[in-house]
Amino acid sequence: MQVLVTGGAGYIGSHTVVELLAAGHRVVVIDNLCNGSPEVLNRIHAITGQQPVFIEGDIRDRVLLDRLFAEHGIDAVIHFAGLKAVGESVACPLTYYENNLYGSMVLCRAMAAAGVRRLVFSSSATVYGEEAAVPYVESMPRGMTSSPYGTSKAMVEKVLEDLCAADQRWSVALMRYFNPIGAHPSGLIGEDPRGIPNNLMPYISQVAVGRLPELSIYGNDYPTADGTCERDYLHVVDLAVGHLKALQILDAPGVKTYNLGMGQSVSVLALVNAFIQVTGVEIPYRFVSRRNGDLAAFWADAGKAHQELGWRAERGLEAMMADTWRWQSKNPGGYR
Ligand code: NAD
Ligand code: UDP
Repeated sequence: MQVLVTGGAGYIGSHTVVELLAAGHRVVVIDNLCNGSPEVLNRIHAITGQQPVFIEGDIRDRVLLDRLFAEHGIDAVIHFAGLKAVGESVACPLTYYENNLYGSMVLCRAMAAAGVRRLVFSSSATVYGEEAAVPYVESMPRGMTSSPYGTSKAMVEKVLEDLCAADQRWSVALMRYFNPIGAHPSGLIGEDPRGIPNNLMPYISQVAVGRLPELSIYGNDYPTADGTCERDYLHVVDLAVGHLKALQILDAPGVKTYNLGMGQSVSVLALVNAFIQVTGVEIPYRFVSRRNGDLAAFWADAGKAHQELGWRAERGLEAMMADTWRWQSKNPGGYR
């Protein structure tokens, strides 16, 4: 297949491009590099011996998209491009809706005009909302999202459902990610957030490499076994493989929704201790007050992806820690 990967110079996109190329697909990447690096393309080449076609540009640029679809015979689109910082989305909602919601709509318009109607979309466990019972199952309704970021994901899901209901030629997979961490085992690509990381794993690895002095753990008074929040962490390579599996079911029309997670939760403290144990590097930390909007614990029921896609997260916590550390220690300043 010839696959268009939007946001392919970012964290999850780059890992997915590697898996696509390794599986024999041809890849076109569009990325405006607002949170990605052009160095990713060199690293992908170093890993796979192949280079995807790279177009630096914005998914909101309809003229550019029309040209892209006209020049490359695209069979399917995997759509990662978007903004993902929850706190920033609260401060700048219009920026988030414009990028994530409007950007997705421009992309769908261009796809329809080009006759390309197979789409895999990066959604998030956040669409289950604050009140959902755990584990999260795809059959649950979307809930009340707690940030413009989460709402933008829920809105795009709804847009795509409506699109598939209106036009039977569309085939869409909504992939709801839990907490992707880790890096490619080569240590050549990984997560490289700009500025101070918002997420736990890159924060830990930047403390480990000496870029940050200590980790603040947000709350130790949650109703969990050790008092810290629990999340369903999965290896980014497993997540990438899930997208290849989703491509295979896009022959049938309609919307399918899949959780991509391990199906079990790990606490913040357990993750920190796993990192220390696997890498031998100490992580100084202290407990601080809870972070606004954090839920105590959630994890996936990952049974549907297993039954329908034949997908299962296979790489355990040890690989997640070792691969994160290989990436961060080989690239202390990220791609820069
Ligand atoms: P990322 O920021 O590393 O990658 C996103 C890429 O999209 C970046 O390279 C950025 O430059 C590009 N981009 C952003 N807006 C664009 C636009 N308008 N036009 C073209 N390119 C644009 O993020 P990621 O962690 O790889 O996440 C990928 C997708 O998965 C996002 O949609 C994100 O919301 C979703 N997601 C991520 C997580 C997570 O924990 N990382 C969890 C759930 C869902
Ligand atoms: N967390 C933390 N310190 C940090 C970053 C995150 O204690 O510097 C906690 C956070 O409260 C949450 C967990 O780690 O319980 C995972 O947070 P992350 O932002 O990575 O994922 P999300 O909140 O989106 O599930």
